[in-house]
Amino acid sequence: MALTDQAFIQYSRQILLADVGEHGQNIFSQSHVLIIGVGGLGNLAAQYLAAAGVGQITLVDGDTIERSNLPRQLLFSVEDLGSNKAQVAAEKLMQAYPDSHINSLQHYLTLDNAPEIFNARQQFSLLLDCSDNFSTRQLINQLAIEHQVTLVSASAANFQGQLLSVNQQLRPDTGCYHCLYPSDMGVSQSCQTVGVLGPMVGTLASMQALMSLNLLLSLNAKADQRQVSGRQTQVDDQPLLGQLYRFDGAKFTWRQAKLTRDPDCLVCSA
Ligand SMILES: [Zn+2]
Repeated sequence: MALTDQAFIQYSRQILLADVGEHGQNIFSQSHVLIIGVGGLGNLAAQYLAAAGVGQITLVDGDTIERSNLPRQLLFSVEDLGSNKAQVAAEKLMQAYPDSHINSLQHYLTLDNAPEIFNARQQFSLLLDCSDNFSTRQLINQLAIEHQVTLVSASAANFQGQLLSVNQQLRPDTGCYHCLYPSDMGVSQSCQTVGVLGPMVGTLASMQALMSLNLLLSLNAKADQRQVSGRQTQVDDQPLLGQLYRFDGAKFTWRQAKLTRDPDCLVCSA
C-alpha cells in the first residue's frame, strides 16, 4: 500500500532507516498493539507507538489520575485529576496523532473480562505489559501464552528496571514470565512502596517501545518471508525474543540474559 505524501513526510526519518522503509511504515500502520496499564510505562510507550504511526492501540486501565502520578505520567496534567487514565490518554493521543486509532477500556484487566478483550475478532500484533503489580503481570503472561500474542513486559521501581519479551511459538526454549517469577514467589517492589524517578520509568518505557517497533518489523518481515519460502523462522532471526534486560539507573549499567524455560512451569509447559 502506497503511503500518502503527508505520511511520507511525517514518518520520513523512520522511513529512511533501511530496516523500516515504506514497507515497515505500512507494517506499523496495520498493527494493533494492546497496552495493559496506562501509568508511567503505558503513557510513554503508547505515545511513542502512536507517534510512530502504529495504526491501532488499545489501552486498558481502570485507574484514575492522581496528583502523585504527574511526575511520571507526562500525558496528564492537573486538569485531568480524578479522570480515567485510559480515557484521557486515548483522547490526548488521538488529538496529537490522528493516524492512530486509540481505543480505551476503562477498567482493570481481570480473568473475567479478558475474553471481552481477547475475543475472536481481535488480532493483536503485540501485548505490552505496563502494569504495576505482580498478579496482573502473571495474568497478562498467562493470556499472552493462551492467545499466542508476543508479550513485551517492562517494569521499574526504585533504581531497577527490567524488560523482557516472550513468544512461545518462536522461542519455546526461553519460557515465559512465570518461569522467571513463579506466582508463589513474593515480588513486592513497586513504585508505590519503594518510590521511583520519572526518567527511570521513562527509560524503560522507551526501551519497551523501541523493542516493540523492532519486533513489529522482524515478526512481520519473517512472516512475509516464510510465506514466500515456506521455511520456519530460525532462532537467530529474532534476537530480542526470550531475552531479559536489567537496567540499574543508579550505576547506569545494563545486563542481559537469555530466559530459560522451567519444564515444570504451570503456564507455558502445561
Ligand atoms: Zn513458563
